[in-house]
Amino acid sequence: MKLILDIAGADDVTFGPEDEIRGTINLLGHAGHVLSHPRVTFGGRLTISMPAQIAGPNPSDLEFTLFEENKELRHNDATSNKDRPVNGIYIVPFSFRFPSQVRCFAHTHSLHLPPSMDIREAESRIKVEYYVRGAVDRQILGPLSKTTRVVKGLKFSNNVPINISPVLLPSTSLPLVLRQKDGSRYLEDGIDGLPAYAPSLRVEALLPEPPVLFRGQANPIKFILHTPSEIVGKIFVRTANIFFKTSTTTIVGSVTRRVDEHCPGSSMSGVIPVDSESLVFDSSAWGRLFKLDLKPTFESCVMRIKHSAEIRVGISIGPEGKIYYTSSWLDVQVMDPPPAYENAE
Ligand SMILES: [Zn+2]
Repeated sequence: MKLILDIAGADDVTFGPEDEIRGTINLLGHAGHVLSHPRVTFGGRLTISMPAQIAGPNPSDLEFTLFEENKELRHNDATSNKDRPVNGIYIVPFSFRFPSQVRCFAHTHSLHLPPSMDIREAESRIKVEYYVRGAVDRQILGPLSKTTRVVKGLKFSNNVPINISPVLLPSTSLPLVLRQKDGSRYLEDGIDGLPAYAPSLRVEALLPEPPVLFRGQANPIKFILHTPSEIVGKIFVRTANIFFKTSTTTIVGSVTRRVDEHCPGSSMSGVIPVDSESLVFDSSAWGRLFKLDLKPTFESCVMRIKHSAEIRVGISIGPEGKIYYTSSWLDVQVMDPPPAYENAE
C-alpha cells in the first residue's frame, strides 16, 4: 500500500498568511486491506540547535510548535474511484488555511508566523518548517494495525509591518585612509604610521525611497563616490560589489541564538576614471541588476530577521596596480513585493 500527499503548489509556491492549502490524500493499492482512520495534520515548528559548548554534554534541539491543526478524514469524502475498486486508488480531499497570527508559545499574546528557513552557522541551526502530515491505519492481524505516514513541507513567507527606524539613513560611509608618503601624493593603505591624509574618499550608498528592497526583483541601488579634488583624474574605479548580511536571532526565554548569513549581491569590474568629485554609479554603471533572494525582514518576540548591505568599491591610482577598498554599510529592509492589484493604478 502506498500513501501519497498531493498538495497544489507545494513544490513551487510560497504561501502567505490566510492562503488556503488544498490537497488530497491518495491511497494506492489498498485493495484487500482494511484501512481506517485517514487523517491529516497541518502545522509549523521552530527548531533551535545549540553548539555543544553551550548546550553541554547532552545537547538536544529546542523544539517549539508554532501551531498544529488536525483533521479526521472520512472514507465517504473520497472523490474518485469509488466504483473502480480494482485500481484501488482512493482519493480523499482536504483543505487548510495558513493562519495570519497564532498564539505565542512563549507568552499569551498573538504572534506573526516567521518565514520558513533552515539556516546554520558552525554548530548553530535555526529551522522554521511548515508541514502537512498524512496518516492512515491498516489492519494487519485481528486488532493489530500498522500506521503509514507521509509528510510534505510547505514554503511560507510573511510580510510583517516593521517600523522603519531612523537608523536607515541613506548615507553612511567609511573613509579610505589616504596618506601622504615622503611628501608626495601617493595613496597608501595606512599601515606605515604616517598621519592620515584628509579629506578622504567616501562611498555614499543611496537606497530607493522608501528604503525597502523587494524580494525576487531587481532593486535600484546607487552609490556616489566622493573624491577629494586633489586626486580627481588620478584614480580609477576597478571594482564595485554589494554584499548582504542577514542576521536571524531567536529569543526564547533565556536562550538567544543568532545565525548570520552572507549573500553576494551584484558585482562589477572595469577601469572607470574618476573624473568628478561626486561620481554617481547607478544601475547601468553598476552592472547586472541583482535579483534579491533574501528572507523578508521580520520581527516578533521570538524571532528577528535583519539585513544590512555593504557596498565595497575598489580603486587604484592610475588604471592598473594595487586596488584599495573603501566601503559603506547600511541597514536595509527586505519585503515581498506588494500584490499585483495594488500596483494596478
Ligand atoms: Zn511572545
